[in-house]
Amino acid sequence: MNSDTKVVRRVKTATEALRIPIDTRPGRNGWAPGNYTIHCHDCGTYVIGDKRAWQCADCAYEETTGADKPEKPTIVKYDHHGTEVSVMLPLRGRHQEHCLCFNACKLFKPGTEDNCEIAQATYENCVKFGIVTPMWECPKYEQ
Ligand code: SF4
Ligand SMILES: [Zn+2]
Repeated sequence: MNSDTKVVRRVKTATEALRIPIDTRPGRNGWAPGNYTIHCHDCGTYVIGDKRAWQCADCAYEETTGADKPEKPTIVKYDHHGTEVSVMLPLRGRHQEHCLCFNACKLFKPGTEDNCEIAQATYENCVKFGIVTPMWECPKYEQ
């Protein structure tokens, strides 16, 4: 594969990923083709693939023996607003990048009485359980 192809397939944001060609190479290692925006845990870019994929096809196919790479992402613990939480290392502190609410949804008005009821309920659930829940898919999104 030449470097031009990689530039087309690898982008830096989930929004950009929606505009790139879909990679149809067969599943391998952490990659499988599909229709979801996924974040590659190896190179940190976004591509369109299966919702359970955790690698882009480029990284999955570049792996040789896999002996020096973990099959799954590293899970770490850290203090998030006073609660110790576990998180996949490449995603630590990056939930806003993956969240539709934070990506220009005009219904998202955090901290106000006009906030979207879905976003508000999700936020309250996060506070209740000390979790982080990016809005990955939403039927009410409005730009
Ligand atoms: S409509 Fe969906 S994307 Fe928009 S703020 Fe509400 S939950 Fe978030
Ligand atoms: Zn990758």
